[in-house]
Amino acid sequence: MSQIDDLPPLREVIRRHGLAAKKSLGQNFLLDLNLTARIARAAGPFENTTVLEVGPGPGGLTRALLALGAKRVIAVERDERAIDALQEIGARYPGRLDIVGGDALEFDPRAYLDGGRAKVVANLPYNIATALLVDWLTAEPWPPWYDMLVLMFQREVAARIVAKPGSKTYGRLSVLAGWRTEAKIVFDVAPSAFVPPPKVTSALVRLTPRAEPLACESRLLQRVTEAAFGQRRKMLRQSLKSLGADPLTLLSAAGIEPTTRAEEIPVAGFVALARALAKHGALAM
Ligand code: SAM
Repeated sequence: MSQIDDLPPLREVIRRHGLAAKKSLGQNFLLDLNLTARIARAAGPFENTTVLEVGPGPGGLTRALLALGAKRVIAVERDERAIDALQEIGARYPGRLDIVGGDALEFDPRAYLDGGRAKVVANLPYNIATALLVDWLTAEPWPPWYDMLVLMFQREVAARIVAKPGSKTYGRLSVLAGWRTEAKIVFDVAPSAFVPPPKVTSALVRLTPRAEPLACESRLLQRVTEAAFGQRRKMLRQSLKSLGADPLTLLSAAGIEPTTRAEEIPVAGFVALARALAKHGALAM
């Protein structure tokens, strides 16, 4: 166990606060403070930095973020059992930990940031990880309220986030992430690092917002990718029919061959289709 602070070991915290992991809350805890420090470092440096952490649980990552110098950590946790344990961390770092009890899906960090920005660092509960990421990627206005996302996902989801055109894992999430951010896998984490161990390997992903992504409406981009990847083996002239606008008009406006398939189209092609839908879709919808 690393000596990143003088707080008790996490196993003791879990025992004392009765924090047996609940599957329904996606609880797979990281108890090795060397590993949580490595995760935190992937989001550093922390000078004058506010961090939003989703799901601090017993606080292993929270402790690493504070020990490495985060000015302030806003920690949103749904499990009421964890609040007392987190308060002990708050007492060790006075004025630097804001504990928010509630559902991260309903939490608007802007109310806490007072116009400032944050980094989001989290070992996410896997049952809501994709929903949270889509929320953050479709934030308005852009550039968003965060300047980095450093997040743990199941390896398979991480692969979809960073996938490039032409790969089997390239899909809706790759287009959305590639449109607005630069996304990169930082390192893999074996199931044995978690308590209890999940069935699959995990991976830490860092997403950095692009200052000026190609302009289009995220809602329309999502509709286009949903249609295209919903039938990914079909040619676009067929799969885009579900949009309710003439696919050939859209494809021609976007400069894309009608016989192309979704997985061959780069992000810029989907953006062009979303723009074409904004222009030509309204009448037919
Ligand atoms: N950060 C801790 C760690 O690394 O050991 C815990 C990570 S565990 C994978 C996910 C955490 O998210 C749990 O503490 C769980 O209670 C919390 N959680 C689950 N659903 C949540 C939600 N909707 N909003 C906020 N927290 C949630």
